[in-house]
Amino acid sequence: MTNTYPQRVRENILPLSVAGTLPEAFKEWYFTEQTEDHEQPVEQCQLCNQEELRYHFEIRNKLTKRVLWVGSQCILKFKLAVFEGARELDARAAKRKLDGLMAKMRLESCVKALETVAAKESNEILKNALKFYRTNKYLTPRFAFVVFWRLKANNIDHSPSFFKVSLKKDKYKRDLAQMEVDRVHVIWPALSSSQRQIAMKYGHTAPPDALKI
Ligand SMILES: [Zn+2]
Repeated sequence: MTNTYPQRVRENILPLSVAGTLPEAFKEWYFTEQTEDHEQPVEQCQLCNQEELRYHFEIRNKLTKRVLWVGSQCILKFKLAVFEGARELDARAAKRKLDGLMAKMRLESCVKALETVAAKESNEILKNALKFYRTNKYLTPRFAFVVFWRLKANNIDHSPSFFKVSLKKDKYKRDLAQMEVDRVHVIWPALSSSQRQIAMKYGHTAPPDALKI
């Protein structure tokens, strides 16, 4: 364990804290649940001065009420309090929560970008797919194809795990069964391993590069 903290961290946080030393001062700070997506990696962590941050997380000192906008890494590294309701989370759960918030921001920006595309192309299917996604928090296999196809065509940064595909309803299963295999390959990265099993049961094959995913 190390008792030394970078000088810049000390200079950034001690003047806003009651305790005059670290790590005591860290105990006065907590994550407020406020996040911001700056859309470009142009921001700085106000704690460690790291640059090129896209996502900001707000921390507040419970005694001085001062706030700083920091990177999620600093919250975890310096073990600042992260709550779920009234309960303070342990390190693992705190990481899971911050990762989840980050994923939510990335998904949100991805959906926003797609909505812009849908409006520009006046693509009704894509518009409906996004409306469906906003309501249900998942995509049907058919909608997933349209969404992934347009994401790729427009170079919109996304990860396949952003969107959930549902096979809950028989109709969705039927759609997957009847889908052309090229289209199945487009949505393949978003399918869970059990959904991939179902797809193969319907006679579909894994995409040739599936092992790399
Ligand atoms: Zn930082």
